[in-house]
Amino acid sequence: MTEHMQWALIGASNVANEWMIDAIRSQPSFSIKSVLSSDAERGTAFARKHHIPHSTTHLSDILEDPDIHAVYISTHNAKHYAQAMASALAGKHILCEKPLALTLSEASSIIKAAQKSGVVFGTNHHLRCSAVHQALRQKIHDGSIGQLNTVRVFHANFIDPSNAGWRVNSTDGGLILDSTIHDIDTLRFLLGSDPTHVFAMSQSGRRGTRGVEDGIMAVLRFPGDLLVQIHGSYAVPSAPGGVEVFGETGALIARDCMSQKPIGSLHLRNTTGEHAIPIVHHNLYYYALERFRKAIIGQDTPAATGQDGRAALHIALALKTAIQTGRQVEVHLP
Ligand code: NDP
Repeated sequence: MTEHMQWALIGASNVANEWMIDAIRSQPSFSIKSVLSSDAERGTAFARKHHIPHSTTHLSDILEDPDIHAVYISTHNAKHYAQAMASALAGKHILCEKPLALTLSEASSIIKAAQKSGVVFGTNHHLRCSAVHQALRQKIHDGSIGQLNTVRVFHANFIDPSNAGWRVNSTDGGLILDSTIHDIDTLRFLLGSDPTHVFAMSQSGRRGTRGVEDGIMAVLRFPGDLLVQIHGSYAVPSAPGGVEVFGETGALIARDCMSQKPIGSLHLRNTTGEHAIPIVHHNLYYYALERFRKAIIGQDTPAATGQDGRAALHIALALKTAIQTGRQVEVHLP
């Protein structure tokens, strides 16, 4: 089926501007009809810049428009729940930014509403769409390093003041819901399982308001006595991003792959030396939109489903609880 589908952008955001408008338009059967902004002037300017025919400050204009079939939600984190719920109830397909909501019960409600309306509900966890992570997952599951022992994730960078804002100054922001939640989703994708226990310590006050975390060191226990470490930060310049997976017969070393860009490398190290694994890169967001389009026509699932988004939120909130209580937290995912 190649039926044309029109989208609305809920949020005149930077991620839409930089990545998602192109990604939606990368699918020939998709176009963008409208953008919602809380500020009429900014919405009009955003629409003009991106050749979007309409802008509005009223969500109902989008939800009541029968010619809009799908929405991409990229407003501030605290708005996702209400906007996604309303969209599901209105029968629109939804690609929502992470975190899907601020609580698990809210995330579950959106999933239920989307199921009831029969619409596709995806979470925009882009890292699992990276060709490096996809190759790494394949190598792990091929048994190329035998039984897994440990995993280390490095996702530290230095946040530019122009991009800091709510990320480091608002309680619905913070590194965990902004960035570590992507690391969690990537681990779930790579390992094909969920952690059973988590522990973490955080830093704050280096790039923003004290009390809103801008650094984290976390330890997660996955099934099979597998220990995972995550280092995340907004306050570390020049750090390489990557994932290292250690097994009984070797190591898989992925570098520069915690990125929105289609970049990064993967090497297998074992007793015979270091071997580069060939990677054919693709645009992460184009990949996500292709999967989403196929999900709409019943040929696939979104790259990350609503359930994936809820699971990542569950684990992210468990990390927050561990930080607040200073204790290891058990994770019981449904
Ligand atoms: P932005 O700060 O750019 O956008 C968030 C909201 O801020 C927008 O909805 C907009 O509100 C408002 N806004 C944007 N620019 C201005 C401005 N100049 N003045 C006043 N208000 C403004 O955030 P991001 O695009 O970085 O993030 C948006 C969402 O996307 C978040 O939930 C984040 O977690 C997620 N994200 C996901 C990424 C991914 O790769 N999956 C990457 C980056 C972010 P309004 O709607 O009223 O116009």
